Amino acid sequence: MVYRDYGKTGKKVSLLGFGGMRFAHIDDHDECIRMMVKAAKGGVNYFDTAPGYFETKSELVFGEGLAELRKRSLPYYTATKTFKSTESDLRREIESQLRRLNIDAVDFYHVWCITSLDNWQARKQNGILTTLEKFREEGLIRHICVSSHLIQDEIEELLMEGVFEGVLFGYSAYNFRTREKAFNAIRNKKLGAVVMNPLGGGVIPQHPELFEFLKESPDEPVVSAALRFLWDHRDISVTLVGFASEQDVEAALAAMQNYRPSTEAALAVKKERASGSLEGLCTGCAYCDECPQSIPIPRYMDAYNQKLLTTENSALAQRLSMHWGIKARGAAACIACGQCEAACTQHLPIIRRLAEIAGMGA
Ligand code: SF4
Ligand code: SF4
Repeated sequence: MVYRDYGKTGKKVSLLGFGGMRFAHIDDHDECIRMMVKAAKGGVNYFDTAPGYFETKSELVFGEGLAELRKRSLPYYTATKTFKSTESDLRREIESQLRRLNIDAVDFYHVWCITSLDNWQARKQNGILTTLEKFREEGLIRHICVSSHLIQDEIEELLMEGVFEGVLFGYSAYNFRTREKAFNAIRNKKLGAVVMNPLGGGVIPQHPELFEFLKESPDEPVVSAALRFLWDHRDISVTLVGFASEQDVEAALAAMQNYRPSTEAALAVKKERASGSLEGLCTGCAYCDECPQSIPIPRYMDAYNQKLLTTENSALAQRLSMHWGIKARGAAACIACGQCEAACTQHLPIIRRLAEIAGMGA
């Protein structure tokens, strides 16, 4: 296992982390605990969950798994999250979480899922930072972190405030262009950087032909190549994999065991090759993001990618609502001025795609 610094905290975290959002059988506690023990024995020491995963069942099963790790003297750090922002709501939340997780303090506590800077301002106005600092003084949490779906300049701006010790965000060979600017702030503020969805939410293993550019030899499995793409990024502290089964844990540990770092130059070549390979898909470069109608075009086009990759309208709709928190009908504001298409690096038919999305209603 490779260990890296989590920002300035002094903690050494495993480059491979355990995400508690995809257990295949959440009610089979024995299986979930076996998965956690197997991961910890393989050197994983970063365990991430959230109250919303399986409606608190993930935190509950983590509580049992962490007790087992203590019994076996296997070291671990805990991470969980909160949507709450007022002091009374946060107090109720953290007390419930500590009970479920069966621990005295959460190591990395995340302000959960910032989807816009306005959303962050609203939580700040509710006093979230003061309350979390109080919790830290009381020893209920150790580090204040954030999880975010922001992209481009917005994620950089959020992190440059300097109020967090670490960040959790989606980053993979599929969407790396949209989040690259986060690393400017991560380096500047010396933050811990945990990346989630390393396999692009399943897009990479489901479409290996699109991600050939990641491979260093023809027989390299695309999943190992996609993980190596992230592990080679020196600013990433933890790559969070949402394990569904014991086999998933074994496969990721084996990939880590076989991991041999590539050079910075090899990584740069892969990034360059990515644009040709992902033809027809939005790469999230955001060159189009100056819409006079304030339409968040990269977000709509990212959601449209899901339709192209899965041929399912439902995947598109889910991406809009669950990931980006925007409505399909918002795309109807397009006045077809053509500015975005002229700027699009992938020459995508943005106007036609937006009309199609708007036609989905809702
Ligand atoms: S064509 Fe539509 S989406 Fe593109 S910039 Fe003009 S109004 Fe915005
Ligand atoms: S310019 Fe094109 S590829 Fe880049 S984010 Fe906009 S739609 Fe996507």
